[in-house]
Amino acid sequence: MARVNTVLGAIAPEELGFVAVHEHIGYGMPGSELDTQWWKSPEQRYEETVPKLRLFHENGGGTFVDATGICNGRDIPYYQSLSEKTGVHIVACTGFVGGDTALKYFAEASVDYLRRQFVHEITVGIQGSAAKAGIIKVGVSRGFRMKELDLRIYRAAAQASLETGVPIFTHLAVDVEPALTIFAEEQLPLDRVLFGHADDGVSQGKVNQQAILAAGGRLGFDTFGYDLELPDPPFWGRHRDERLEHFLSLVRAGHVDQLLASADANCSPLGWPGVKGHTVNYLFEQLIPSLRDAGVDDATIHRIFVTNPAGFLTIDG
Ligand SMILES: [Zn+2]
Repeated sequence: MARVNTVLGAIAPEELGFVAVHEHIGYGMPGSELDTQWWKSPEQRYEETVPKLRLFHENGGGTFVDATGICNGRDIPYYQSLSEKTGVHIVACTGFVGGDTALKYFAEASVDYLRRQFVHEITVGIQGSAAKAGIIKVGVSRGFRMKELDLRIYRAAAQASLETGVPIFTHLAVDVEPALTIFAEEQLPLDRVLFGHADDGVSQGKVNQQAILAAGGRLGFDTFGYDLELPDPPFWGRHRDERLEHFLSLVRAGHVDQLLASADANCSPLGWPGVKGHTVNYLFEQLIPSLRDAGVDDATIHRIFVTNPAGFLTIDG
């Protein structure tokens, strides 16, 4: 039966509603939980997170996909309680944001070992819970070049995706050729892969978006809102109008069905202050009004935020 794994169990794809496809409840580098400077009480984490998810729900948001991989602060019981309290469906992920965030224990594992870890989290549960992962995260390590460990994780993810039907997110869409080779070798259809962060400021000029689109991949404009116009923008920021125009050029060129959009915001960052003034609700407060102003009709907006993510996240069979 067609379904999507959420932290509270599988749901029908029609129940997803509006999807923020790449977000974080809280993302931190491995080890940040040990740094006394950044310890947060449970009260503080709830206080920072619940209002954002409630507002997301009030704005019409249905599903929040948490793209925080293994080792980066993923916390299933906490996600379950947030979902119960706010009514927002939360999809959790297996996999790693990139090779350089995989702790030594996993960094030395074989492709087969990593595949079994991902499949277990998708079919049995994560961290001893019954919550099953709904996506697999992979990524390019710092430096914009795929490293050997990144490639091992990509191959394990491709095999786990074929075995379970769960789709793959990539952190960064740069150096895409080795990724395309692995997915082709494993015979994974590329509509099961979202090549993420195709829109961020530091990746521009390094993303072969034509190769991704031609191969049938999905392109993630998933850092919407990390604008250089913010008071203290991050290094991956980009001018708001430039990003929007880039997105619109692909909509106008007829690639809507291969586009996914999100904000990659942190509700309550772990081990870093986060980016002030940026939340998942940017999608409702800035992006959708900007799309409407640019003449994008409601049917197209529905495809971007409802139809496309449902097709992407659905596990068949
Ligand atoms: Zn992210």
